[in-house]
Amino acid sequence: MGPEIAIIGGGMGELGVAALKKQFSLRSTVYEQAPAYEDGVGGAFGLYPNGLKVIRDVGGVELLRDVLTGAEPYQFRRWMRHDGTEVAVASEEALAQGDLQSVGIRRWRLQRAILRAVEREGGIKIVMGKKLKSLQNVEGDVSGPVTILFEDGSKVRADFVFGCDGAKSRTRENICGVLEPVYGGITCLMGSADMPRSKPGICFPTGPNRRHGVWYPVGPNEQVFQIYTVTPMNPESWKALTPAEAEVEKRQLCASLREDGWSEEFVKPVEEGKNIIRVGIRDRAPVEKWFKGRVVLVGDAAHPVAPYFGQGAMMSFEDVGTFALCAKMMGGADVFKSNLSSFHHVCEKYQKHRFPRALNTLLTSRELGRMQLTRTEGKVAGLARELQLWVSVALFGTLPNLKKGAEYDFKTEVARTEGWDLSSAMKTRQPQAAKL
Ligand SMILES: Cc1cc2nc3c(=O)[nH]c(=O)nc-3n(C[C@H](O)[C@H](O)[C@H](O)COP(=O)(O)OP(=O)(O)OC[C@H]3O[C@@H](n4cnc5c(N)ncnc54)[C@H](O)[C@@H]3O)c2cc1C
Repeated sequence: MGPEIAIIGGGMGELGVAALKKQFSLRSTVYEQAPAYEDGVGGAFGLYPNGLKVIRDVGGVELLRDVLTGAEPYQFRRWMRHDGTEVAVASEEALAQGDLQSVGIRRWRLQRAILRAVEREGGIKIVMGKKLKSLQNVEGDVSGPVTILFEDGSKVRADFVFGCDGAKSRTRENICGVLEPVYGGITCLMGSADMPRSKPGICFPTGPNRRHGVWYPVGPNEQVFQIYTVTPMNPESWKALTPAEAEVEKRQLCASLREDGWSEEFVKPVEEGKNIIRVGIRDRAPVEKWFKGRVVLVGDAAHPVAPYFGQGAMMSFEDVGTFALCAKMMGGADVFKSNLSSFHHVCEKYQKHRFPRALNTLLTSRELGRMQLTRTEGKVAGLARELQLWVSVALFGTLPNLKKGAEYDFKTEVARTEGWDLSSAMKTRQPQAAKL
């Protein structure tokens, strides 16, 4: 029997399991803390061409088609004032890569599509309601596999562990101690509404009282809003709100937005909003060590980022693509069979490529967040930023740092830096195998 791989957390990491299973026929199990995946609940994402490339090249064209069926193209990017005045409008063509364009999608639809791809691949177990407590024998080495302890008292063993358990990762604690992301003083209230956007596109209005937000389509008749407010620390209130809590919150927020002169195109969706969640916006620099022994981190577990760039989930996808590519080019299935040194070589290469990209994403995200906040801080600062936005769109078609996010192609970048010839690697692939 081949090695057993355990994936902690069933977020974007499931795509990784499917990719590794496809390439190396590994025995794989995902352990997810949620009791079940539920339709219709939770937040949403923007998906950009850099992440869509991973979905296509690692997950396959069927997965890409499935994801895009559940998503809505942005088409335009509008920076606005709270009263509905447009400051600058960019066509999303400026971020397109071939036929890949940015789209909005509810998280549950993306998760469903990934799950269907995992089921198509077959042989991957998904065990729900399993919350990681701790890992034992992380170093593993030749003495044997890692022991995974769950909160319910059960335990399993695995040869290799991928920590895909998000920003509050317990896997990370076992690699580098407690390194929680840091709260930056802003909370986000988000939700969805069954109504089309009044104008096509994703829009970024800013208003008085240091409040800004983003409204974007996730379906022909569905949109999502995320409203950012400078707020003192109150982690107890960061959660999915109950319907009763949401009603109170929405009523107060809508009254405050109307008082401040926000356009009804922004207020109405909040009034009609469902699935209301409040999150404290937190981030931290990528951790210095992404792997130890038989355990490696993927996604927010290694580099939790604030959402202003809309690239957090894309970084998880790029991680998955990069790890799978490095493993393929540096020994294939043997990486998981032989001694730990080949696994560690792959992990080193993976971290070498991903660290600077994740750090850059973090810094860009902070910069974009600061820009939006500055627009809320008085007329002069606001006008200066608006001019900057307008000039960038006039000169470059959009903000240049958004292009750096969307253009990235993990295969091309990694292969160019390493001097790898991917065409020969592709000749060896199985008909059903990942298209790396
Ligand atoms: C308001 C907001 C808006 C955002 N918008 C965007 C956007 O537009 N585009 C974008 O790309 N990104 C966006 N992001 C970022 C994005 O949500 C994350 O970067 C992305 O989800 C990270 O994926 P992940 O798989 O690493 O972690 P997660 O998606 O957090 O998945 C982790 C999984 O692990 C599970 N888990 C956690 N702990 C345990 C445990 N102990 N045991 C077992 N399972 C566990 C969780 O239940 C979850 O299923 C946004 C984030 C926020 C807060």
